[in-house]
Amino acid sequence: MDVAVVGGGVIGCSVAYHAARRGASVVLLEAGEIGAGASGAAAGMLAAQAEAHDPGPLLDLLLAGREAHRSFEQKIREATGLDPEYVWEGTLRVATDEQSRERLRTNHLWQKEQGLTTRWLEGDEARELEPALFPETVAALHLPEDGQVNSPRLVRTLALAAVREGARIEEYARAVGLGVEGSRVTGVRTPEGEVAAGCVVLASGEGSAALAGGIGVRVPVRPVKGQILSVVPRYLPVKSNVWGGRCYMVPKRDGRVVIGATVEPGERDPRPTLGGLAALSGAAVDLVPELSGAAFATAWGGLRPGTPDGLPIIGPVEERDALLVATGHYRNGVLLAPITGEAIAALALGEEPPLDLSPFLPGRFAEVTSR
Ligand SMILES: Cc1cc2nc3c(=O)[nH]c(=O)nc-3n(C[C@H](O)[C@H](O)[C@H](O)COP(=O)(O)OP(=O)(O)OC[C@H]3O[C@@H](n4cnc5c(N)ncnc54)[C@H](O)[C@@H]3O)c2cc1C
Repeated sequence: MDVAVVGGGVIGCSVAYHAARRGASVVLLEAGEIGAGASGAAAGMLAAQAEAHDPGPLLDLLLAGREAHRSFEQKIREATGLDPEYVWEGTLRVATDEQSRERLRTNHLWQKEQGLTTRWLEGDEARELEPALFPETVAALHLPEDGQVNSPRLVRTLALAAVREGARIEEYARAVGLGVEGSRVTGVRTPEGEVAAGCVVLASGEGSAALAGGIGVRVPVRPVKGQILSVVPRYLPVKSNVWGGRCYMVPKRDGRVVIGATVEPGERDPRPTLGGLAALSGAAVDLVPELSGAAFATAWGGLRPGTPDGLPIIGPVEERDALLVATGHYRNGVLLAPITGEAIAALALGEEPPLDLSPFLPGRFAEVTSR
């Protein structure tokens, strides 16, 4: 195999698809089922501007990630006949008090300065856009270019697209280590033996730290639990992604409203708790009161792959030939999947990636020990 990808989340499947599309022979090993990790839990927002706190490399990456989805959408639908349910209705960040108004106003001003499309709305204007918002809405920031997708569907679509391009996907195939000869990574060790590959891509989400650590490479990804739930109202009360201070809600094309998400660093049990769900439900009803009559559908949780500096880890490990890392996407792995897949596939084939990866290289953390 030219490329062995470890991890069948949205990142691993995107890498497999892009590498296979470029003509590489690809195998993807997934410990459970495709999309079993954070990717199957995600709300699916493509919220490049809502997620941005300031100008810098993360903003640039998020914007490039959103842009990549726009061309990707049609390509992936045509390649598979599946519809990952993209919606491009923007994000509305809602101020619920004077403090949050100030924060959003600052955000609006610097985004405007950067030339990004952003619209400042006073309370009544916000309620004109989204009439179901609570009556005391103070103000809102409208980011019309953000979007959303059905994340579990996107992962399955990517996996099928990868297979159609010739990739082999193995579920219930846990990597127990990486094969090494000298400074070179030679493949992936499984309980059945080693899968040899010209290049290994570590895309195992919050499981990446352990695999890299096994060969002395530091990939400091830590789980950040998120709880999330969905309800089925009689009709969708909002059309954009709506963010309040204590929750967000994402109206899905299938009639559900997805309400998320808690942020619990270090928690390893992904199951939702009563306290987490109570907090999210209360916040959602405060923001859009008519949701109180919506039928509860289901609740779930996932572990986001977080990093110490909040940036993803994308690129080659300098001290280990033939090892590429694609993880640590924290809150934005769905948004960043196509761009990450493109970049890693290019590197795996010895080509220039389509963007400057220097802020995201694993070398900013990694120390190879003598192991
Ligand atoms: C509640 C919640 C809401 C979110 N909302 C959004 C959102 O709206 N927008 C957005 O962009 N992002 C969102 N995210 C973040 C997003 O889900 C992640 O950034 C993204 O899914 C990470 O993808 P991944 O492929 O790196 O990891 P994962 O999806 O976790 O995939 C890693 C895979 O590797 C497998 N694996 C691990 N170890 C091994 C091994 N040893 N051998 C083989 N396989 C292995 C796992 O089983 C898993 O399937 C959200 C996350 C959560 C939890």
